[in-house]
Amino acid sequence: MIIHLKKSVSPEQAIQLAELHQSILLQGEFPTLITSSKVKTVDESLVPYAEAIFVTDTDIQLAGKQYIPTKRTIDFGGFAIGGNTNNALMITGPCSVESESQIEQCAELCVELGVKVLRAGAYKPRTSPYTFQGLGLEGLKLLDKMRTKHGLQIITEVRDSTHIEEVIEYADIVQIGAKAMYDQGILRKCAKTQKPVLLKRGFGTTLQEFVQAAEFVLSGGNFNVILCERGIRTFETKTRFTLDLCGVSWLKQYTNLPIILDPSHAIGYAYGVADLARACVAMGIDGLLIETHPNPKVAKSDAEQQLNFEEFRALHSSLGKVAEAVGYRLI
Ligand code: PEP
Ligand code: MN
Repeated sequence: MIIHLKKSVSPEQAIQLAELHQSILLQGEFPTLITSSKVKTVDESLVPYAEAIFVTDTDIQLAGKQYIPTKRTIDFGGFAIGGNTNNALMITGPCSVESESQIEQCAELCVELGVKVLRAGAYKPRTSPYTFQGLGLEGLKLLDKMRTKHGLQIITEVRDSTHIEEVIEYADIVQIGAKAMYDQGILRKCAKTQKPVLLKRGFGTTLQEFVQAAEFVLSGGNFNVILCERGIRTFETKTRFTLDLCGVSWLKQYTNLPIILDPSHAIGYAYGVADLARACVAMGIDGLLIETHPNPKVAKSDAEQQLNFEEFRALHSSLGKVAEAVGYRLI
């Protein structure tokens, strides 16, 4: 249940009420209490302080359309997605920052095509400890250089809570990877910044668990959350994962959060990325995350799925019309 308290309730009173009624307190325009969705009636002692009450079916509360039926807007400063914008945001770059020359070439590709957000990981959550683990802080500094030099926004991932402060400091958008989605240390820290957070769905995660992970960020005070479907594990082994487009429909129907799709990690092979990307955009979504590399064959991570620049240029030029056909604009 979500309870808007009257504006006359002081911050101290609101803290007391939150403790008394075992709820999370959100201090915003007006104080808001959030209890478990299992609570269906307001305690009588709370009634004099309550301005509005929202009974919810599940713990998808702040992200749910029962409470806020319209899609939330994420403002990146200069452009936005969600709300009434009908913008589909292109995000591209390599899986990992590997060197200055590699990331510079990717940044130049973004500038050439008018792509506003450069992606690349500095802390990589690899499946094997014996493979390239990312450049760490050095990688973040290279991304910072690209932002300054090319006027791009940077999205980079947080692998674990040891470097969360660094990533929040350097990134314009913080990516929480699929393997980190359940990490409450990360989620709670991301709640304390106002930077947009792109939360990837764990590959063995139900939609309910996925959106409840987002609730940790929202209920901690950061409403700038974007959901990212990146493929789930099924019985199929021919592709790396299975992109859950049915799940995307469900998220659109029941949540108020913008949704970005990542076909690169879903299929895991470059040959299918362009077709899938067009299918994603045709669903009317808020953005795409596509891995590109100047020379995918020598990429230090996710070599098989990254598009080379020619492939990306061709894909990019085909997406505008697809977006337009469903009332969106590729930005
Ligand atoms: C990535 O974006 O490079 C990545 C590691 O993605 P995921 O967390 O979805 O596996
Ligand atoms: Mn990758």
